[in-house]
Amino acid sequence: IPNTIKTDSFWMPFTANRQFKKAPRLFSSAEGMHYTTVDGRKVIDGSAGLWCVNAGHGRKQIAAAVERQLMTLDFAPTFQMGHPLAFDFAERLAEIAPKGLDRIFFTNSGSESVDTALKIALAYHRATGQSSRTRLIGRERGYHGVGFGGTSVGGMVANRRAFATLLPGVDHIRHTHDLSRNAFAKDQPEHGAELADDLERLVGLHGAETIAAVIVEPVPGSTAVLPPPKGYLQRLREICDKHGILLIFDEVITGFGRLGTPFAANFFGVTPDLMTTAKGITNGTIPCGAVFASRKVHDGMMVGPENQMELFHGYTYSAHPTACAAGIATLDIYKDEGLLTRGASIAEYWRDALHSLKGLPNVVDIRNCGLMGAVELAPRAGVVGARGYDVMVDCFNTGLYLRMSGDSFAMSPPLIVEKSHIDQMVSILGDAIKKVA
Ligand code: PMP
Repeated sequence: IPNTIKTDSFWMPFTANRQFKKAPRLFSSAEGMHYTTVDGRKVIDGSAGLWCVNAGHGRKQIAAAVERQLMTLDFAPTFQMGHPLAFDFAERLAEIAPKGLDRIFFTNSGSESVDTALKIALAYHRATGQSSRTRLIGRERGYHGVGFGGTSVGGMVANRRAFATLLPGVDHIRHTHDLSRNAFAKDQPEHGAELADDLERLVGLHGAETIAAVIVEPVPGSTAVLPPPKGYLQRLREICDKHGILLIFDEVITGFGRLGTPFAANFFGVTPDLMTTAKGITNGTIPCGAVFASRKVHDGMMVGPENQMELFHGYTYSAHPTACAAGIATLDIYKDEGLLTRGASIAEYWRDALHSLKGLPNVVDIRNCGLMGAVELAPRAGVVGARGYDVMVDCFNTGLYLRMSGDSFAMSPPLIVEKSHIDQMVSILGDAIKKVA
């Protein structure tokens, strides 16, 4: 490992800290299921980059499409003008969208998609004569990116403390121990509907007429994979329908095949009114995101004789030509290789492999859903993250990159993962857990 990097000369979240100086972890290239470190070691990518490189690394087809696009049309203005590829890309996304969610709004990231969806929800209510509906409801332990909207509806209290007053009226569905743990149960427990009724508590508290939307990750990812108990999302849908509240699924992680279905909406059989995506939309290459809206929401938001959108919104780089080129090439790969459903055929193997770690020292929970998984360790002497950090470094040194969240490991291999990779991942993680006290 080179000691020439100057960690004082730049600032990056989560890296330029003392721990990183002690044990730098630097990637220099990537191909398929593997990263290569600066000192030439191959490391399995257990996290699909950051839940985004769904088709694996180094896809030449995407690189070629981006290069071609840059040589032809490098930029096209978003407002009043456009370019055909944006329409092609939107059409391709609409083809794979959950039923009826075929109105597409382009963004450049998950955080932008979340802020966009929240704004659309408010604009929809305003345009349909319900301007009292301004309140947004998130869920404790949800993560919705780092924009002001996403920070406010996000359920990680420490993340939003400094910004609490920016979106007044935001509230959060309760997270309970039962919701976060499926303590060694291989399948989701059954009591979801009961837990989702906490939304009724908030409706009672604030009044349905004040609530614009509820936003949840179908399976919270960044807080270390919390699959909902059976019936949870169905009940949220029922409560939202009953009270005229829009339901937003944040599918930034679960979108594009992560659960073995194109979207979590397909997996759970629950269709939201709005769906936020990013990450896998371009296989982690060119920044891009998209909000999928139902026709009801889209059409409801259009007002006046000119059919104007009741919302001024759009980014300089919305539907950037390179993002569209990368996105279309990505969707081609997903389609040609059946990747949006491949996870379904390997999810059971994945589940059993993860659950084989049960009984190792300090393992307190193991969770899985599709090709998401988490192994949770007990904190060492009450210090959250210390044991997790040591295990993460050990894994990295032995050939596995994993995303750490507290003392949990959130796992999400590229969807091209083979059983042999899963065996390797679990063996490296298991050995690290045994080694680290
Ligand atoms: N929503 C969810 C569910 C996410 O997991 C993330 C990123 N991890 C975001 C939003 C934010 O996405 P981005 O980092 O692209 O802004």
